[in-house]
Amino acid sequence: MFNPCILCNASCCKDYLISVTSFDIQRIIKKTRRMFEEIATLESLNLLNFDNDTILECYERNLRYDYILALKSHPCIFLEKNKCKIHKFAPLVCKLYPHNFAGKIAKRTRCPCASEFFFKLKGPDSDLEKYKKQVLEYKKIVAKWNKKKGEKEECVNFLLNRTNAKLQSF
Ligand code: SF4
Ligand code: SF4
Repeated sequence: MFNPCILCNASCCKDYLISVTSFDIQRIIKKTRRMFEEIATLESLNLLNFDNDTILECYERNLRYDYILALKSHPCIFLEKNKCKIHKFAPLVCKLYPHNFAGKIAKRTRCPCASEFFFKLKGPDSDLEKYKKQVLEYKKIVAKWNKKKGEKEECVNFLLNRTNAKLQSF
C-alpha cells in the first residue's frame, strides 16, 4: 500500500499542536508503557480554535482557565527521523490528517500531498470508525469534567479513570 507521507518531511508532526482524546492517550500509554506526564499535557487554549466540546474548564481561586488535551508537540514527541514511532496506534487526528473529522481535506492545510488521489492510494484504516466513536465518548467525559468545576491537578486523573471505566464497559 502506498503511503504519501514517505514523500514528506512530516511537517504536520512538527508544526501543529496534536490535540487528542483521553482514549488516544490510554491506548498510547498501554502500548508504549509510558506515563501520561512523559507524553502528553494539558495545553492552555489561548487563541487556538479547537472543537468547543473538547475544551477542559479548570478552576483556580474561582477563576476559569481553559485547556485541551494534547501530545507533547512541536515536534511531536513520537516523531523520530521524520517517521512516526507509534504509527499503528497513532491518535485519531493523525490518522485523519490532512482530512478533517467530516472526511474533507482540511482548509489551509500545509500537507504537500493533500490530494484525494494520494490518500486513496493509502487504503482504508480499520481503526478509524472505532476512534471516531471514541471522540463522542470523550466529549461526554469532558462535559462531566466541566460540570465538576475542578482544579487542573485533578483533571488528568479524572479523564483517564473515566476513560478506563468506559473501555471496560465496551
Ligand atoms: S499527512 Fe501530509 S504533512 Fe503529514 S506527513 Fe503525511 S504528507 Fe506530510
Ligand atoms: S503521533 Fe505520529 S503521526 Fe501523530 S503527530 Fe506524532 S509523530 Fe506525527
